[in-house]
Amino acid sequence: MRCIGVLCSGGDGPGFNPCVRAVVRTGLGLGMRIYGIQRGYAGLIACEMQEMTARSVGGIIGRGGTILGTARSPEFATPLGRREALRNLNKQSIEGLVVIGGDGSMRGAIELHKLGFPVVGLPGSIDNDIVGTDMAIGVDTALNTVIEAVDKIKDTASSHQRAFLIEVMGRASGYLALMSGIAGGAELVLIPEVETPLEKVAAELQDAYMRGKAHCIIIVAEGAKPGTQAVTEYLQAHQEELGFSVRVTVLGHVQRGGSPTAFDRLLATRLGVDAVQALHAGKSGVMIGLMGNKLTETPLEEVVAKPKGIDLEFYRIAGVLAK
Ligand code: ADP
Repeated sequence: MRCIGVLCSGGDGPGFNPCVRAVVRTGLGLGMRIYGIQRGYAGLIACEMQEMTARSVGGIIGRGGTILGTARSPEFATPLGRREALRNLNKQSIEGLVVIGGDGSMRGAIELHKLGFPVVGLPGSIDNDIVGTDMAIGVDTALNTVIEAVDKIKDTASSHQRAFLIEVMGRASGYLALMSGIAGGAELVLIPEVETPLEKVAAELQDAYMRGKAHCIIIVAEGAKPGTQAVTEYLQAHQEELGFSVRVTVLGHVQRGGSPTAFDRLLATRLGVDAVQALHAGKSGVMIGLMGNKLTETPLEEVVAKPKGIDLEFYRIAGVLAK
């Protein structure tokens, strides 16, 4: 294989840049030419790509976001869009592709693989909802960002004897909420995987007050049922009986930014190196992941076959430790 491309697709996260850097420099080390494709599959269709050098990925290892940009491309989900993408790849003599992204992006990669185009996927998603890897690129940095915010909110919550709802990302996955709840010492975690009646949320709050807690931190995933608004309205309506007054902080997109942690840089680098080596060895249709600190290959079809789910033992532990 003499020439490969690399793109970032779907939701972004910290660590995509060190991954791109590793792909480019590993490829160059193997004597390949490397194209950086802008804006994911959209850039593939629009033929927005340029040849990368070792220098073009200089100084990006610690930078959040992605120098290539990322996008969602409804066009690529159509046969016509994919035909155009394939035509552009052939036009540039690109013979293989590394796709960094979430499970949607892995679905896109499957389509290219099915057309006979060599493609290797890498998991990038702060939600950590991708089958075939213990950790996706960006998760660790996002968790650290959330914990930093939780620690700060806790300081002010304790001073004023307040309950705080902190909404974190995760429309379908409670991983970020659950793990930041444990690592940040939250009193309660609300996640999409476990429905929590409003009365139970209120009872937990009241209980925390009775146990003498100076604050009550509730981490709410975006997709939790009930969600931030319903819980806030309910708690505010019952504020008198609860002991705590209630405030809300929605962390939003700060969770996607920032300099990648050492863990994310190393994960992204290991995965990037391995993806290029896999393509070079003639592999296609697989995603490289990290399982039990070993790099693994999982067929893309398996990656997207079912939702990853969450280990509910952690949910139980979070409850025990909140006392
Ligand atoms: P993520 O990769 O973060 O999960 P998306 O689900 O938005 O993000 O997927 C990113 C892009 O992958 C989509 O905009 C689309 O171009 C492509 N994609 C997703 N699903 C498919 C599919 N079934 N077939 C082809 N392309 C797809």
